[in-house]
Amino acid sequence: MPTESTFILASVFIILAATGWALGYFGERDEQPPLNIDYLKGLNFLLNEQTDQAVDHFLKMVRVDDTTIETHFALGNLFRKRGEVYRAIKIHQNIIARPDITEEQRNQAFYSLAKDYLHAGLFDRAEVLFIRLNDKSEFTSESLKNLISIYEQEKEWSKAIEIAKKLNKLNYDDSLDMQISHYHCESAEEAIDEKNYDKAITRLNSVNSRNNKTLRIELIFAKLNAIQGYEKKAVDIYFNILKQNNYFVAEALPLVFNIFKNQNDLQEFDKKLNSVINQKPKISNLIAYTALASNIEYSKSIDNCIEDYIRSDEALSEFINVNDIFQSELDIKDSSIKKIKHGLMVLANNNPRYQCNECGFSSQKLLWQCPSCKAWETQRPFLSVKFDSLLQRKVIDA
Ligand SMILES: [Zn+2]
Repeated sequence: MPTESTFILASVFIILAATGWALGYFGERDEQPPLNIDYLKGLNFLLNEQTDQAVDHFLKMVRVDDTTIETHFALGNLFRKRGEVYRAIKIHQNIIARPDITEEQRNQAFYSLAKDYLHAGLFDRAEVLFIRLNDKSEFTSESLKNLISIYEQEKEWSKAIEIAKKLNKLNYDDSLDMQISHYHCESAEEAIDEKNYDKAITRLNSVNSRNNKTLRIELIFAKLNAIQGYEKKAVDIYFNILKQNNYFVAEALPLVFNIFKNQNDLQEFDKKLNSVINQKPKISNLIAYTALASNIEYSKSIDNCIEDYIRSDEALSEFINVNDIFQSELDIKDSSIKKIKHGLMVLANNNPRYQCNECGFSSQKLLWQCPSCKAWETQRPFLSVKFDSLLQRKVIDA
């Protein structure tokens, strides 16, 4: 079966042959004859599905000069995009090896080669080239962006911070400040895993409060306090997060609930949570869904939020007559709500809980960096139980 490379190269050879023919036909008499044997040789390799030999033949046959260099770049970049990185590397290395190209063309070739290495997962080689290019003005910005991507993948947070700051400076803005805060957070989380709590605190404190654009730092401070036995301080931080009534509720609520549950003091938890709900009544829905997805039980204040959720969920009222349930006798009402709550928990646990608002990637666990589009802190929790999986019908396998 001919591959896509066969078609790409075949097109190049045919175009070259046609150009040769045109030159031969319209050009001077002593120009090379039409349909040079070299083109036919290249096409012959392709017909025999010898793509690598065809690439070698192309590189030998078509000298890199001002008129052909764009064809070399286009072919190399096309191979990379098709995932045939080793062929792209061969073409770009061939350009670099030519002594007669300009400084600008050589830098362009180094940049293309660095991208090839990045695609091939050869991070060390890509890093060397991007560092070399970052002081060449036309490639500075792109090289810095690629270096950040390498350091993120290799979890080299200090280097990522240094380069992101450099890029902010270059662009005269602070657009990477949130990213920089997350690099500090990642580094602090690593230190916590190593039980090096002092290092974790130093990492978090080094985020300039003016530049901090994420509440994740507060979440980690709370976690650090809880680990070290300062639970009262941890609770204060978690409730400060809850009071802000944003998507961080989904992260903070289960953690603070567990502290009170372990202390057998859910009464105090309810008191504190009711005070937040009274100040911010709109938080009730997010608390209910978070509790359903995190299987939080035995809290009166949360159960009240879940009851309100059941009462107001439009999709749910398509299945059951919610009003009848709430108007029935107390024991029937309680057992019905318990059953509905259990059903909602099963559904919430079997559906993704977070979705990236940039690319739509969804997951059960919150991912600070989206694995699909690589953006930071773009995932948000869903606000209601999805009934799609319940509505999916199966057909009989014949
Ligand atoms: Zn995404």
